[in-house]
Amino acid sequence: MASRIRPLAPALRTLPRTSPRALSSPLSVTPVAATTATSATGRLAAASSARRSLSLKSFFSSRKPKTDAFTSQFEPVLEQANLFHPLSKSPLPAVRAKADWIAAHGTCPVCKEEHEPKSQPPTYECPDCGYPTHCTEEHYKQDKENHKQHICGVLREVNEDEHDLRSGRRMKEFEFPGAQHRDEAINLSNWDTFLYTRGFLSMNSERSMRHVSHVLSYPLTIGSVLHQSSPYRLGKDLTVEGLKSLAALRHTLHPAVIPGITQAGNLRSTATHTVRIFCLGARAESHLPPHIYMQLAYLFPTTAFQIHFVGPDAIPPHTKSKEPHQHVHYEQMTFVYDNSRYEAYHAEAGPFNPYYDVFFLFSPGLAHPATRDMWKPTIPLLLDTKCAIFGTGFDENDIMNDVNEIENAGYELDWLMKPRENVFRSLKHEINMTDLRQSAQCNWGIWGIRGRRYDVKPTDE
Ligand SMILES: [Zn+2]
Ligand SMILES: [Zn+2]
Repeated sequence: MASRIRPLAPALRTLPRTSPRALSSPLSVTPVAATTATSATGRLAAASSARRSLSLKSFFSSRKPKTDAFTSQFEPVLEQANLFHPLSKSPLPAVRAKADWIAAHGTCPVCKEEHEPKSQPPTYECPDCGYPTHCTEEHYKQDKENHKQHICGVLREVNEDEHDLRSGRRMKEFEFPGAQHRDEAINLSNWDTFLYTRGFLSMNSERSMRHVSHVLSYPLTIGSVLHQSSPYRLGKDLTVEGLKSLAALRHTLHPAVIPGITQAGNLRSTATHTVRIFCLGARAESHLPPHIYMQLAYLFPTTAFQIHFVGPDAIPPHTKSKEPHQHVHYEQMTFVYDNSRYEAYHAEAGPFNPYYDVFFLFSPGLAHPATRDMWKPTIPLLLDTKCAIFGTGFDENDIMNDVNEIENAGYELDWLMKPRENVFRSLKHEINMTDLRQSAQCNWGIWGIRGRRYDVKPTDE
């Protein structure tokens, strides 16, 4: 199979690794690790100092029991009945550090409303969620009803989830299944049916679902759009143009079995095309270990994939390398990481073909002041390819800001998928640490567009 990767000239890699967006990005931290100081809501510099005391590597590489698969060799630090702790009194240093971070950078909502901008540091911890939500007990009591009604439950959930992730228990939910026989049907109606039909283990608590959905949201968001068993339907979610675009991609992704020529058993060897998925402005999605993306590959057993992570923060997992352009080969998949400017990358990666190429923009912030200008030269290039372009956002506002930005720019485009909730959004809430009243979910919503195609109509002579 011919490689569709072309290395870039060093001169093209001019962007610094950390752009202004890295500080303001809504999802600049890695899943799982994000629990130390998440920032889905934070187009704010919330996550810079307290995060990453926990790496994905610790979950995905070193926890396999060496002897008996059914006996944990790990001594849990925390029992399941003991997962709730006020942040400042947590047995885990990483969680205590978070309380310090909030005290230094957070806001007391009552102070904020009464005499902004002089807010006293939030150091009073709500007894129900354990987060330092207010400056004093007095301000807490004043605001208690509001706090309870809107965010306390979410904060409590996040508190326990974080302690669970660091509890030291064997996390069976992260022991993902391998390939399955191509005749076994996969149901992509929702997280439950997907996990069940793919044979995931131990998915019997909402907490496990939150952990796993957070890690798998990126590959499953891609897979659920592209797959022939997609939950998105013509008329309801997809436009006619959307169905046409996806039909082109599915033609490549689901090759027909021709009796006598291609057999179900050997289709893999007959795959002649590679589907290229371009993740632009990539951040957290590029930090996921390759085996997470294999869950996407297993949905399409006869297709080879290239995933291109492009953007100043596109950094491979488990590396401190400063190489601006890297390839990682992993079974059915090749990963390309490149932090050059997209305009330069585009010229190198073309030509593009709507049957083989698709773009994903995860929480791009098209309308956000810090990133808007960076996207302006990119979008027309993407529309020019006539390939499908899908985008996500972390809440309804974020989605609608992007959608309005696209509509107001006057591009010649067709909508493929109307903005809607993403079936495979992360179920985990991420808290804005500078203002605990705000939370969001990774890949909460999704939309799709494509550069407009004009059918040539015969003229009457
Ligand atoms: Zn206050
Ligand atoms: Zn509370």
